[in-house]
Amino acid sequence: NDTLPILLERAAARFPERAALTFVGASTSYRELWQDVQRFATALQKAGVAPGERVSIMLPNCPQFVVGFFGSLLAGAVVVNTSPLYTPKELEHQLNDSGSETLIMLDTFYPRFAEIEATVGVRRVIVTGIQDALPFPKNLLYPLKARREGTWVGVKPGGKVLGFKALVSSQPPTPRAVRIEPDDVALLQYTGGTTGVPKGAMLTHRNLVANCEQARAWMTDLREGQEVTLAAIPFFHVYGMTVAMNLSILGAATIALVPNPRDIKMVLGAITASKATLFPGVPTLYNAINNHPDTPKHDLTSIRACISGSAPLLLETSRKFREITGGANLVEGYGLTEASPITHTNPIFSGQREGSIGLPMPGVDAMVAGEDGQPMPAGEVGELWVAGPMVMKGYWQRPDETAKTLRQAHGRTWLMTGDMSIMGEDGYFSIVDRKKDLIIAGGFNIYPREVEEVLMSHPAVLEAAAVGLPDAYRGESVHAVVALKPGMKATEAEIIAHCKKDLSAYKVPRSVEFRTELPKTAAMKILRRQLAQEAREAQA
Ligand code: ATP
Repeated sequence: NDTLPILLERAAARFPERAALTFVGASTSYRELWQDVQRFATALQKAGVAPGERVSIMLPNCPQFVVGFFGSLLAGAVVVNTSPLYTPKELEHQLNDSGSETLIMLDTFYPRFAEIEATVGVRRVIVTGIQDALPFPKNLLYPLKARREGTWVGVKPGGKVLGFKALVSSQPPTPRAVRIEPDDVALLQYTGGTTGVPKGAMLTHRNLVANCEQARAWMTDLREGQEVTLAAIPFFHVYGMTVAMNLSILGAATIALVPNPRDIKMVLGAITASKATLFPGVPTLYNAINNHPDTPKHDLTSIRACISGSAPLLLETSRKFREITGGANLVEGYGLTEASPITHTNPIFSGQREGSIGLPMPGVDAMVAGEDGQPMPAGEVGELWVAGPMVMKGYWQRPDETAKTLRQAHGRTWLMTGDMSIMGEDGYFSIVDRKKDLIIAGGFNIYPREVEEVLMSHPAVLEAAAVGLPDAYRGESVHAVVALKPGMKATEAEIIAHCKKDLSAYKVPRSVEFRTELPKTAAMKILRRQLAQEAREAQA
């Protein structure tokens, strides 16, 4: 029954002097953070932000994100997480769809907003520079380009541009008390857009707090007030927001903020400087660390537990990561935006299963459903359905989409995940692939993931995707797109020969395309759909 601001208030009461955030060498205590959050909430209320109003936040991981997020919630507003990578057109869609009237953004992103400001209903823009966060200390962990504050003018006729820092410091920490119910929507989280038009999943305070509690119950040994979380995965994505931010606040951990997870040197520097103990991530990130030339120069032994989510984790990745960290447990989990997001995880300490997403977390019901919505027997493929307190209220203003995704059955509300899955006799689940990414060649179903695993097992391959291309004889055939490890070589014929060893003929890629890097979402997930589209265009 808690709301998100209560988690922070409680951490500040219990561990006031503990560092809540570290960023470019400076830190903010839980007491200071809670004060700033209250000041920010006061400022929003004075600026006229009403309860239930949408506040979009377009920031990388930095202290202002945390202050903006909790401050908006404390003022009773609904946060709309907004990817800093959005183009003006994507930004326009999300601002209009969510009906946001307030936007908090980094100054360097402002030109993209300026292009579309005339066609959106945003009335207040709060800009902030990375340098607003804290005075720059002498011993910077990593260099950041400082930009001057206060150069932005003229957002909308009659609108106001406000500086973040000035806003926070000028206000007392005394927001008007707003009644926030656990079932009030806290967040509109737009689904990543690897499929169709982005839709806003309505996640309530109860959903988001429940998922933190479920993760804590699962981790069992989260040491309150003692952990340091490396927050490299972005907070504007639901996975980073729950696991790196909210779960840390629930456990009064120090959050070591990393603004750019693609900069592996920055990530490595932050692990060493913060002595991070927890490091949630995604397979592409662990893989990049495993293969970076600077990794051996860093001491990564402080890390003890990591959850990898959002895409399949290869055993080779977790084995090598364990080696370079001197024994960190890296386990695979699974989730999706609509479930706040985690539903399954492998046990952290023992009982992990290769190629499995593990067991449903405490309080999650899960079943593999057949076409008729009945549970399938163990060992058979069906769609994964989940139920529990972390399942969203629905999609924002899209009752038709909600009806296609949430289903009443067996006395509960089930979220149909769109992922094909198998449950083993032992109750462990594995993901076969996304229903929508299935490739059909000569009448046979091919799950791209199976092909990708074989591609990744080639010693020169760093990243791989398998997509379907139109084929006059078979309907579709498999096309592979790969990026090679730095300094490694391989030819198309070698890769195809490698696949032939492990895959039935119809699954073997007919063509291989080489790229220096595969395109990824802001959450570092490989954009299969984009690759498929590009390959189709190249073919035509
Ligand atoms: P969209 O739903 O708009 O296409 P998205 O991929 O960004 O975008 P998310 O909610 O971020 O949406 O991702 C959820 C999906 O990620 C799951 O439905 C599943 O397909 C995939 N996924 C998550 N964890 C795993 C895992 N461990 N193994 C395989 N797939 C996973």
